[in-house]
Parts: sequence; C-alpha cells; structure tokens
Amino acid sequence: MTTSIDATHDLKLRSWVASANEAGCDFPIQNLPFGRFSHGNDASPRIGVAIGDRILDLRRAGLVDSDDMNALMAATPEKRQSLRALISRGLAEGSSRQGEWESALVAQSQVTMHVPCRIGDYTDFYTSVHHATTVGKQFRPDNPLLPNYKWVPIGYHGRASSIGVSGQRFKRPQGQTKAPGSDPAGAPDFGPSKRLDYELELGWFAAQGNAQGEPIGIADAEAHLFGVTLFNDWSARDIQGWEYQPLGPFLSKNFASTVSPWLVTTEALAPFRAAFERPVEDPQPLPYLDSQANRAQGAFDIELEVLLQTAKMREAGEAPVRLSRTNTRRAAYWTPAQLIAHHTVNGCNLQPGDLLGSGTLSGPEAGEAGSLMELSGGGKKPISLPNGEQRTFLEDGDTLVMRGWCERAGSVRIGLGEVSGTVLPAA
Ligand code: MN
Repeated sequence: MTTSIDATHDLKLRSWVASANEAGCDFPIQNLPFGRFSHGNDASPRIGVAIGDRILDLRRAGLVDSDDMNALMAATPEKRQSLRALISRGLAEGSSRQGEWESALVAQSQVTMHVPCRIGDYTDFYTSVHHATTVGKQFRPDNPLLPNYKWVPIGYHGRASSIGVSGQRFKRPQGQTKAPGSDPAGAPDFGPSKRLDYELELGWFAAQGNAQGEPIGIADAEAHLFGVTLFNDWSARDIQGWEYQPLGPFLSKNFASTVSPWLVTTEALAPFRAAFERPVEDPQPLPYLDSQANRAQGAFDIELEVLLQTAKMREAGEAPVRLSRTNTRRAAYWTPAQLIAHHTVNGCNLQPGDLLGSGTLSGPEAGEAGSLMELSGGGKKPISLPNGEQRTFLEDGDTLVMRGWCERAGSVRIGLGEVSGTVLPAA
C-alpha cells in the first residue's frame, strides 16, 4: 500500500483552530479532507481543506495556484503527501503560519458546498456479497448469487451528469414498471416509482489516471486512489425489476445520486486499514486481483450509518432516526485496489476525478442492511418509526442521511461528514 502512518496522524497533534480539537469532531487536524466551496459572489468554486468547523482556502493560503481540484487529484502520491504535511504543520498549534492563514479561513456555515471535483466517468460496483445475496433472492429466489460473483468484481457504467452534493433534492422518477407475477405478455404500467430506495455506498475517487491500453497492476492501484466520500445511489426498484435484463440497470439508477462534500484522502485513512479476508471455502482472487499487501491491509475500517427523517418528523422538530449501521470491513467482498486493477485490466483508462461507487454496503446481520429493499424484505415487512409512521420504501418529503467515521484505539477519530438528500413529488 502506498500510504503509511506519519507525523500528520500523531495522536497528540492539535490545531490552533479550536473547533478542530473538540471530541467527536469529524475534521480534526489528522483528517484534512478536500472539498469545493463558494461564497455568494464567487464566480466559480474554490478549493479548501476542512478543519474543525472552518475551511482553509488553499489558494488564499498560498498552497495552490488554481482552484482545479482535478489537477490537484492528478498529482503523484509524493506531491499529495508533501501538500498534506505542509497543511498539517501550518494548522498545528504553535505554527508561525497562524497569523497569515487566519485570513484564509472561512466558516463552513457560510458557504455553499459543491460536488468535490469534476466527475468525468462514474462506475458503480456491487462489492457486498450480503447485499448481492439478499437482493438476488428477491429477483431470483432459486438462484440468488450468480456463479461469477466470487470471481469478478461486478459493476456497470453509471451516469455522472445527475450526481449532486449533499442537500440534493430531486423529483421521484417516473417510468415503466411491471408487477411481479403479472401476465408476462401483458403491457407494463407507467407512472411515478412506488418502490423508491436508497443505497448506502462509499464513493472512491480516482487520482492520477492511466494511459489507455496500460492496465494498473494491483501493486500500484492505491497510487491511483485519491480518497473517499459517502455516496447515496438512489434506486427505483420497480423500474429496475422490469428493465434490468439483459443489460443491467439504466433509468432506475441515473435520475439522481448524491455525494458528501469532503474527499477524505487515502493518506488520512492510513491508520484505519484492515486485512482483506475471505471465508476459507470461497475461491481466492485471480493473480491480477491478489497481492500480499492487499491481503495484509487492502481493506478499510469505516463505520457507516443510515438515518431517516420524514416530513412529519421534520415538522415536529424530531431528529432523524437510525435505520441501520454497519462497517466496510463486514460488508465489502473486494477492496478499492482490486476495483482499480479490475477496471483497467482490459486497457480501460481511468482519469483523475472518476468515481467508483462501492455498491450497497450491507453487513451480514439484518440490522446492517444498506437499503430499504433489504430492511423491509422487498416491501413485505414495513419498518415502524418512533412516531408511529411506517415505511417499506421512501415517501415524498423523506430526507435520508448517511454518516461515516473511523475510530480505532491509538488514533484520533476522523469523520467523512454526512450526505443527505430529499425526495420531492414526481413531476
Ligand atoms: Mn448502487
């Protein structure tokens, strides 16, 4: 793996930005995630690093020449690490930069956040074997997990134009649907989706790209990985059920997808790595998807939770209620390095800023499911909320919130922040 624990992860390191030192803060000085923001009068987004409840404007701090996040993401790992070290030293307590950089700080509460980079291409994977098995049972009761699953990281090409940032509000999609068990020769229905769902995912972002025709080997894969956001891949299950064969999801997935605004770097995640483990009875990965480093620490240890706030809860001033909680170690069958090696093995070229969705991250237990389709047993078992409301799928006015964080003894807790999105009535 390309990243290691260094002075920027020091447990004792504190910042002269006081809010960054508060317990439970997502953005302590050990995190330093990148994002794009604007004030009311900015013509285009600026790039910055979150520190406590502030943002360090990188251009005003003299750290970059332009506000092009994709250019920053294309830098070599060595350049990324030296920029991180420079920011860490400058924001640390006692730094001589404090006087100069105080004027480059802005309050997060006073800016608009944007999608963190220009996303050229978006691919969505299917890395949770628990999700694949549970959903497979609903679509194909006799044949839930297809025979390729444990050999090949399954994915499809998604659409980047409809990806928005946390706070996104979108209209319920309309489309063709066909009730299971209805006359196979009969006409489908048309109208607003009745089975609108979310998918709890991580968004892995590509760093430097590869030339077309030149695959990225697994040993180099993490040099091409910039960082991660939370990712909600909104999905219309009834549209999906009718359209997905034989070419996979299409209009059931591309109407909206939402990312959290802060790119937490692979450098920041260095203390939260884990072994890549497979049950002994499962096939081992083919050589191009296997390496000693990937086995030793190719996985990430990221806690995830999903919360729902209905319109009625919002009106009553009630906080969002948790629907599920899991961890990437328990959910993911493939590591990000394997996704990058697989994506490029045929010669496909990745570019800086490309988004690789993890796929729905469901853990093995029922309370760890990353979608309503799983939590409600395909809509057969409604979920009861504390205020007496019930849900099988999402209703108009529902706000869905996902949060992620890393916590481990001997390290400072870091957070991914949150991604929220709200369903509006169909057009
Ligand atoms: Mn998905």
